[in-house]
Amino acid sequence: MPPDPFFAGPGLDRADHLRANPAAISALAAHAEARALAWDNGAPALDPDGRLAWQAIEGEPELFLGLDRDAPRFSALPDGAVPIDARAHFTLLTMLRTDEAPTFAAALSLANWHRRHGFCSVCGTGTAPNRGGWSRACPSCGAEHYPRADPVVIMLAEHDGRLLLGRQPHYPPGRYSALAGFVEPGETIEAAVARELFEEAGIEVRDTRYIASQPWPFPSSLMIGTHATAIGDSLTIDHNELDDARWFTRDEVLSALAGESAAPFQAPPHSAIARTLLEHWVDGLK
Ligand SMILES: [Zn+2]
Repeated sequence: MPPDPFFAGPGLDRADHLRANPAAISALAAHAEARALAWDNGAPALDPDGRLAWQAIEGEPELFLGLDRDAPRFSALPDGAVPIDARAHFTLLTMLRTDEAPTFAAALSLANWHRRHGFCSVCGTGTAPNRGGWSRACPSCGAEHYPRADPVVIMLAEHDGRLLLGRQPHYPPGRYSALAGFVEPGETIEAAVARELFEEAGIEVRDTRYIASQPWPFPSSLMIGTHATAIGDSLTIDHNELDDARWFTRDEVLSALAGESAAPFQAPPHSAIARTLLEHWVDGLK
């Protein structure tokens, strides 16, 4: 059985019932085992073993991340804008332990939302963190705003035993991966899969099936992994979106997943749900 997606998992106990109770949050922040997440260069800091780095609490941090068994976990809002150096993030992900990844994703996505949503979308007034950081409240019009996760479909299209994979311009040399795109307002997952595959590769699909999902905290997406059956294999590639797209056989995908030097492409990294989808496909989509 292939492993679960990298960022998927229970993470901390989010203890939603405590968030609306400021006295309870203050008591948790004063708990002897309470710790605050350390940040480095706009992202959660890691120790040399790839674990999240925690430090003693000063004051009452804005974000209550949850409970690690009985130990409260907080974070101050990191300074500055959302960092845009994706390559630095991906280097970090090669070090991050799998069992720490869900908490990393939750903390970074939540912090990214705060960093980008400082003003009320109703009236434009500056807002303040509320509910242990799981909302922001407007002091002027009273609106309460909740953190967003933006749905993204990512899909394997299959035709006659071969899979369609593509290259985005920023990928490392040789990398091919599953095609993906944001779900638009008013769309189902199936409609978004069909639209993105037609826009980017010119193919029509049927029988879209959900496989797995994972959060992706750059800045705050939910990746919805699917498999669809292509009606034909003739490609019309949108070169504004993709450098290339091609069909690959099961043996070629197996070779890439094994990291063989003769593989026809470089598989996506372990942190990408595209790799999980490929592992499920070669395993028979169980
Ligand atoms: Zn407002």
